[in-house]
Amino acid sequence: MLIRVLSEQLASRIAAGEVIERPASVVKELVENSLDAGSTRIEVQVVRGGSQSITIVDNGQGIPPSEMATAFERFATSKIDEASDLIAIETLGFRGEALPSIASVAHVEAISRHEGESAGSRYVVDFGKAGKVETAGAPRGTRIEVTGLFKNVPARLKFLGSAGRELSRIHTLMASLALVYPDVSFNLTADGRENLRTVGSGDLRDAVAGVYGQKIADQMLPLEPDNSAAFSVDGMVSSPSLNRSNRTYITLAVNGRWIQSRRLAYAIEQAYHGFLPDKRFPVAIARIHTPLDDVDANVHPTKAEVRFLREDLVYSVVQRAIRGVLSTSAPVHGLGAGRAAGSIGLLRSPVRPSGGGAVSSPVSPNRAPASGFSQWPVELTDEDWPRDGSARQSSLLGTPARHDPDERSDGATPRETLPVLRVIGQVHETYIVAEGPDGVYLVDQHAAHERITYERVKARFDENVTESQPLLEPVAIDLAPGLLTVVQEHLDELHRVGWGVEEFGSGSLIIRSVPAPLAVRASGDGAGQLLIRVLDELSEGGTGESWRDRLIASVACHSSIRAGQTLSITECRDLIRQLEKASHPNTCPHGRPTVVQLDVNDLEREFKRR
Ligand code: ADP
Ligand code: MG
Repeated sequence: MLIRVLSEQLASRIAAGEVIERPASVVKELVENSLDAGSTRIEVQVVRGGSQSITIVDNGQGIPPSEMATAFERFATSKIDEASDLIAIETLGFRGEALPSIASVAHVEAISRHEGESAGSRYVVDFGKAGKVETAGAPRGTRIEVTGLFKNVPARLKFLGSAGRELSRIHTLMASLALVYPDVSFNLTADGRENLRTVGSGDLRDAVAGVYGQKIADQMLPLEPDNSAAFSVDGMVSSPSLNRSNRTYITLAVNGRWIQSRRLAYAIEQAYHGFLPDKRFPVAIARIHTPLDDVDANVHPTKAEVRFLREDLVYSVVQRAIRGVLSTSAPVHGLGAGRAAGSIGLLRSPVRPSGGGAVSSPVSPNRAPASGFSQWPVELTDEDWPRDGSARQSSLLGTPARHDPDERSDGATPRETLPVLRVIGQVHETYIVAEGPDGVYLVDQHAAHERITYERVKARFDENVTESQPLLEPVAIDLAPGLLTVVQEHLDELHRVGWGVEEFGSGSLIIRSVPAPLAVRASGDGAGQLLIRVLDELSEGGTGESWRDRLIASVACHSSIRAGQTLSITECRDLIRQLEKASHPNTCPHGRPTVVQLDVNDLEREFKRR
């Protein structure tokens, strides 16, 4: 092939791919333009996750009719000129690529009235083909409507996710921008329904309330910035009592620009070390200020990532600020200390073939303050157990040992049965001590009950029996970014497992009933809190197991007795008796051991009897 210069049209379609990857990138570019235009109100409407249409309406300074066509040319920008210092750019855009890129892969209609003009103008570009600028009546500001995105780039269309996924990306983006610009009112409507709204009062707490709900906003602690320092951070972070099961609640900005940075998010998590349980994450909004020449915003085509010249300094400023407010607001609880314990050489899990080596005692994820056994949520009877072998056989954990039923009944090589145990008592309000054929056994009460409940809920689910407990009064909750989509996508499964939920406008849900096993916990902790925890855990996107299995595991986890609950000897016996009946009694649904064993032979050796 000869070397040829590509036509304008083809070249711009290729270039568009760099900035416009998906509907959320269109929203990002257009909203950033609205912000650059000084808007105080930005409304975004999307249909079908943006693949059908995206409309952005702002009240910014507008585009004069004489500049409308130029705005859509490549490298046309009002934000920098030949004399500009590329280091000290204060606007979000400056490359002049967004409008032409979008217009080359979609049908775009722009209507705008500049603040200094009495009439507005309308301009249409259809997949790169420009029309004429016409006069049109319009309020001050700009309205841009993008339809049929990527219709002329089938390859890109193929890589888009479901409408729900794309919407969730747009929601996350809007939520982040709303948190970074609390003085601008943001509004996102999806398929005619309001999805997010912030008031734009300038108070970050109001923006947090608009994005995550008032309850979370009330629990945020303001960072106290040192305004005299060259490097500083302001924003809000969650108090340790408020935490989440994933990292998507960390929002970062540098010098007014929203950024994404795993490393910086990790630095924030680290600042919470000792304040949060394992695998729990904070809600945080950190707005970092540095000298302009200390960041390079130009490393990424969509400017979503930045490079810091003095990265370590930035991290330490952020960490110091966060630890400062945390330590004045809450005492340190020494979590994670359990790691060093439990390395007794004698302990082993009976699941493993003998000689399996040391097993550290499981660190309970769900340690609760000591409380009465009255909280034990479900009483099981023998009737509750699935009787047909098939239900028992279904492997919940992907346990490698797929045994057949005969193996179980004849008692030879019992790899997934519990030995006959005589309960001695409870220690540490967490472990049941029992004597068995080959030594002393310790059973983790939470893990064991979780296993029992899991199999029960799973069996009910598979039989399509919904066990649901109506709430005396329905509860309304606000949902955080993305969670509403999770609910919409999995409404059937949620109903089937017993959650009676319905949508109720703008990111809210009404809860009318809870899964029966959760009834007790829901009346204590609140059905809303509980559902948010469950959804949070599920939105993490686990590895391997299906969403359904994780939902069931989550219901089981939250309805199980916790570590820290005192159990009577009868209750301990009851639990062991139920565990014996489980089809996979030796591990909890997350794969941690339910039981570990102190071998008699090892005891004899330790006591020098042999
Ligand atoms: P850039 O933002 O990099 O300058 P764009 O292609 O996004 O490039 O926009 C080109 C120009 O169009 C901008 O520089 C700005 O002058 C104008 N413009 C785009 N959107 C708006 C808007 N919503 N309000 C006012 N002017 C706008
Ligand atoms: Mg722009």
